[in-house]
Amino acid sequence: MVSRCVQIDPFLGRYYGNRSAESVAEEIAANGFRGVQYIVTRDSRVKRELLNALRQRRIDVDYTTFGNGTYDTADLPDGWQQWRMVTRQPMNDGYARLCLNHPEYRRWKKAQIASVLRQYPFDGVHIMEPFWPEYPGPTAPAYACLCERCRSLFSQMYHGEQPPDFMDEAHPRFWRTQPELYAKWVEFRAKSHTNFLNDLLNGEGGIRKTHPRIAVTIWVLAVDVPDPVRFVREVHGQDVANVVRQVRPDAICLQTHWPDWMKENLPPDYVKAYQPLVRAARAVRPDMPIMVQADIGSQPQNRRSWQWIEAFREACERIGVQSTTLYEYMLGMYIYAEPPRVVRAMRRGRNTVLLVFNKRLDAQSAAEKNRYTFTPPLQISLAEVDGNLVRLSTAPMQAGKRYRLTIRDISDDPSTRWLPDTPAVKLQEQTVTL
Ligand SMILES: [Zn+2]
Repeated sequence: MVSRCVQIDPFLGRYYGNRSAESVAEEIAANGFRGVQYIVTRDSRVKRELLNALRQRRIDVDYTTFGNGTYDTADLPDGWQQWRMVTRQPMNDGYARLCLNHPEYRRWKKAQIASVLRQYPFDGVHIMEPFWPEYPGPTAPAYACLCERCRSLFSQMYHGEQPPDFMDEAHPRFWRTQPELYAKWVEFRAKSHTNFLNDLLNGEGGIRKTHPRIAVTIWVLAVDVPDPVRFVREVHGQDVANVVRQVRPDAICLQTHWPDWMKENLPPDYVKAYQPLVRAARAVRPDMPIMVQADIGSQPQNRRSWQWIEAFREACERIGVQSTTLYEYMLGMYIYAEPPRVVRAMRRGRNTVLLVFNKRLDAQSAAEKNRYTFTPPLQISLAEVDGNLVRLSTAPMQAGKRYRLTIRDISDDPSTRWLPDTPAVKLQEQTVTL
């Protein structure tokens, strides 16, 4: 499993727009990432150029797909509304939750995954967020699934017994007052979740049948509570030991749950609290490859710096986890706070110099030739900007001769950030040798 990974959704925001796939891939490589979980929100819209550009730079790319629904219903067939989870209260948050127990949804999902893997050279598959909603449990408006199919499957499993009630405290089957019935419900959800994943991987038309050699990573929620193994099983139906035992994924990814990631002052070693989940997985399979995912900036207060990320990676190693990924590359604090900096400078033939910056630049100012000065002097005829790349067309350079290039006053571009709430940051001066 690749150690330093990052998640990318190329359709999220403006950061990846109006620039080449090569520039995105160069930026990811320049920041030390060796694996990308490419979040595909619409299977019919995979950016093949980006996938190829990343793989050409020896970055592994995993097809990363949501397990329990979709943000984009464009690819869903007619009648998909029948697959919707029934939540405790109606939800209108832009996410279509789909019932893990619906056979048509499972069939369609398996066919979608197989079709994507047939069409594109992904290195692996990540089933992200296959859990039942929602934190903190039956009081959550999005608590699910309470559809007719789930209710009748529950009754089949428990000899005609009806599922608990989640709305009315006076109801004879209210979940809080009927702990035995509620325990059965928890069991039912955990089994359904494991069965869903087992079907996606090992069932008819599943990934193991259609693409036996591709590695599959299953995502499991992780949260800082006294007993996270019990908690994610009860609240989200994710029984980590049973998933490892029955589904036999190639790896699991522990996803930082939102009550943890949204904390402003979350210490980077918060993952200590996730150790019981690591132990539960490795009690079944001692060499289980495990990844931990951190959120690095979905909200302004949780933007994380490179320093924080490095400390997080070290804390993961201390709980026996070598592999990390981050949601999402362009949400990190560095995009807001770090000045542009040349990471690599290369000659490309006699007349061209390619500069790879750590981040996307302001295209207008970075295209001004007078910001670049060669020693010994060398005339620049053109400076072309492509995301984080600058191509300088120069007078012929002498082979074997060293040139120094000084770069001044290069800004980044706040308008391409997820939230344009902070001013541009500027490279004052940097000299590189060619
Ligand atoms: Zn259901």
